[in-house]
Amino acid sequence: MRVLITGAAGFLGSHLADRFLAEGYEVVGVDNLVTGCRGNLAHLDDEPGFSLIEHDISKPLFLDSPLDGVLHFASPASPVDYIDLPIQTLKVGGLGTHNTLGLALRHGARYLLASTSEVYGDPQVHPQTEDYWGNVNPVGPRGVYDEAKRFAEAMTMAYHRAHGLDTRIVRIFNTYGARMRPHDGRVVSNFIMQGLRGEPMTVYGDGTQTRSFCFVDDEIDGIYRLFQSTRVDPVNIGNPAEFTIRELAELVMEETGSAVPPDFRTLPVDDPAMRRPDITAARRELGWTPTVSLREGLRKTVPYFRELVGREERWNFKGTPRYDQPDPGSPR
Ligand code: UDP
Repeated sequence: MRVLITGAAGFLGSHLADRFLAEGYEVVGVDNLVTGCRGNLAHLDDEPGFSLIEHDISKPLFLDSPLDGVLHFASPASPVDYIDLPIQTLKVGGLGTHNTLGLALRHGARYLLASTSEVYGDPQVHPQTEDYWGNVNPVGPRGVYDEAKRFAEAMTMAYHRAHGLDTRIVRIFNTYGARMRPHDGRVVSNFIMQGLRGEPMTVYGDGTQTRSFCFVDDEIDGIYRLFQSTRVDPVNIGNPAEFTIRELAELVMEETGSAVPPDFRTLPVDDPAMRRPDITAARRELGWTPTVSLREGLRKTVPYFRELVGREERWNFKGTPRYDQPDPGSPR
């Protein structure tokens, strides 16, 4: 069995490649390395079941070898990244989804789309169930990601209905763990790096907004189970334990041993006030439930970032920060 994973050099893509390899699959990775990092795949250099194609999946890709699965994970995924790369984000979510759906259809492969809790926008239903249609500002700065993923979901369902393609859609909620870039810009990576450097944590707004954080191993297990299931409708995969950003800052301070008070910054435009997955469907249909608490997950994640303090130049991101985003002072 062979699967193709786009975004394979990224945070989730690389963990997903590991999981499929461990399950006995061959894995073909595709990545243009704009936000992905070769370092995330370095441990697979001598793995005969793995190969990487450096390619921008916004452009068509033709393969001769057979494929049993196509998993589309390529996209800038941190708000800082997709605001820096707005057109690339729309293209990989739009054209990239079309291209990967076409590839799956040609090969008779099962297709899995990495969608996002961002399709719910700034939600007016809490927790978010899969049948909630969301509250997205299409012309705001986050619209490039949210609308690309909403289009991608619509396109995936259209291929399912029009061509009978065997499809899956996972809505991924905030996930953290090893292989995130230290300059990723997302809250967990920012806070851990700031805590380890003895810098103040940059809390945007008053820090009362909430998120629900899922440890990467749990997230990957949910995605793998979804791929093996028969569920075509979208499924939320996330940890429903909800925290304010201030609570997260306190936890990370404890886990990094930092005592520096937070620095309150401007809240980004359209930042969702709350987010929490309803995972009834995942529990019922996939038998999946997250098992790693936030404290436990942070404990597993901090050592990875500790190794990176002072070595951030390994990361090759080419963009420039746009909104009130702390620049930790190293090349991005
Ligand atoms: N955030 C913060 N400080 C940071 C980075 C993010 O307070 O250094 C906040 C951000 O405003 C949002 C939450 O943390 O309310 C999660 O942000 P992130 O960029 O991780 O992902 P999002 O859930 O917004 O996609």
